[in-house]
Amino acid sequence: MNRMIMLGPPGAGKGTQSIILCGKLGVPHISTGDILRRAVADQSELGLKAKEFMDSGQLVPDALVIELTKERLAQPDCAEGFLLDGFPRTLAQAQSLDAMLQELNAPITDVVDLRVEEGVLLERIKGRASAGSGRSDDSLEVAAERLKVYWAQTAPVSGYYRDSGKYREVDGLGAVEEVTERILKSLNA
Ligand code: AMP
Repeated sequence: MNRMIMLGPPGAGKGTQSIILCGKLGVPHISTGDILRRAVADQSELGLKAKEFMDSGQLVPDALVIELTKERLAQPDCAEGFLLDGFPRTLAQAQSLDAMLQELNAPITDVVDLRVEEGVLLERIKGRASAGSGRSDDSLEVAAERLKVYWAQTAPVSGYYRDSGKYREVDGLGAVEEVTERILKSLNA
């Protein structure tokens, strides 16, 4: 049973690797970014509250994201495992996640932290911005802001899990398949 978290800075390849891994492991892919983008497109109450933060590269307030994750994890398809991509992004989210999973008696089994050096991240993010990914938060300034927010608010989440015995740091540099292999190896180690 895999109940996984995928950590890493913007541009590290979290989304790509998460989708591949979910296919291989047969668990649902839970991306809070995807859920929030859908809410924005639907102009739901959540979307209206989240849009401004997302468009400026800031984090959506913890209470909103924690609530939507709690609802998602309570869905029946998560009973056989899941992969969280883009959550938790703050220490408060990590603590709330522990509490909600304790209630479900279903603790996290693996935390994969994709590591990519800052210079490479910037290059990748710039590439994504100039290619016009279709994401409204992919302009260069917003991408730089997202990176800043990552270092300030999300990087400490790695420290939260580092000594848990579930933490696997994986080099995110290289071909997509290579990185997938590394992750799978780290999960079996
Ligand atoms: P992502 O697709 O994961 O990069 O997320 C896109 C945007 O959605 C982020 O820049 C945040 O504004 C928001 N977001 C996604 N996940 C979270 C989260 N766990 N906490 C706060 N904001 C989030």
